[in-house]
Amino acid sequence: TLERMTVNVVVTGAARGIGRAIAELYAERGAHVLSVDLTLPPALKGQERLKADVASRAGRARIARAAREKLGRVDVLVNNAAYQGAHGSVLDVSESGWQRTLDVNLSAPLMLVRELISLLPQGGAVVNVASVQGLFAEQDNAAYNSSKGGLVNLTRAMCLDLAPRGLRVNAVAPGAISTEAVMASIDASADPAQTRRDYEDLHALRRIGEPREVAQAVYFLGSPEASFITGVILPIDGGMTASFMMAGRPV
Ligand code: NAD
Repeated sequence: TLERMTVNVVVTGAARGIGRAIAELYAERGAHVLSVDLTLPPALKGQERLKADVASRAGRARIARAAREKLGRVDVLVNNAAYQGAHGSVLDVSESGWQRTLDVNLSAPLMLVRELISLLPQGGAVVNVASVQGLFAEQDNAAYNSSKGGLVNLTRAMCLDLAPRGLRVNAVAPGAISTEAVMASIDASADPAQTRRDYEDLHALRRIGEPREVAQAVYFLGSPEASFITGVILPIDGGMTASFMMAGRPV
């Protein structure tokens, strides 16, 4: 009998936002998902969840144990968890903020791949969630820009070093996405309607993206439909990075 194998997936940072949308999409499409976050992710019917810090060695060991015991094999690892709290310029970002940002956003994806390598089969895939903010920099966002820029090139290094094992490694680079955190920051600004328009106008499509639109691209990159795609950084940005400024608006 031809029995279709269940796809097993680990998603980090899956309690809310984009990670949550990724876990939901995989679950909807019949995958077996292990959702990981600092706080226990909300239950998805029939799915696994774990409270763990990807930036700690103990946390990663617990993720590996849960993946081994509950999934057995990990067909797709989605490195989505990120720390976005260290604001500041090259001159004033705090050392601890800088370190935490690199630990969570850059080092954890590397270390988690190492931790899970024995569970990743030939034909497996890693999808890293980078950002347009890892392709270009902004003022006063040195730590986050550096961590995501590092993750972009780590994706290429992983592509090369894991190809001999038959693994593919890609990244998505989202533009502004309407997560709880982004919407809260818009609402907290002095003029929320104007701030929202400013965000929208960064994109050629003149709107903010939906978490599900990122999830769909992650799903594709992790699937056999993308079997000859590896080492790619795919912007999910409504055309933001198609232009060198202002999404092509005449100045
Ligand atoms: P979010 O802050 O809403 O969610 C991130 C989740 O990761 C949170 O639930 C958080 O608890 C978890 N997390 C943070 N540190 C962790 C750790 N050490 N261990 C385990 N879990 C941890 O963020 P989001 O907007 O959904 O972003 C998801 C990913 O997409 C991130 O990698 C982010 O950098 C990227 N991204 C987001 C946007 C956007 O507009 N929202 C744009 C570009 C890229």
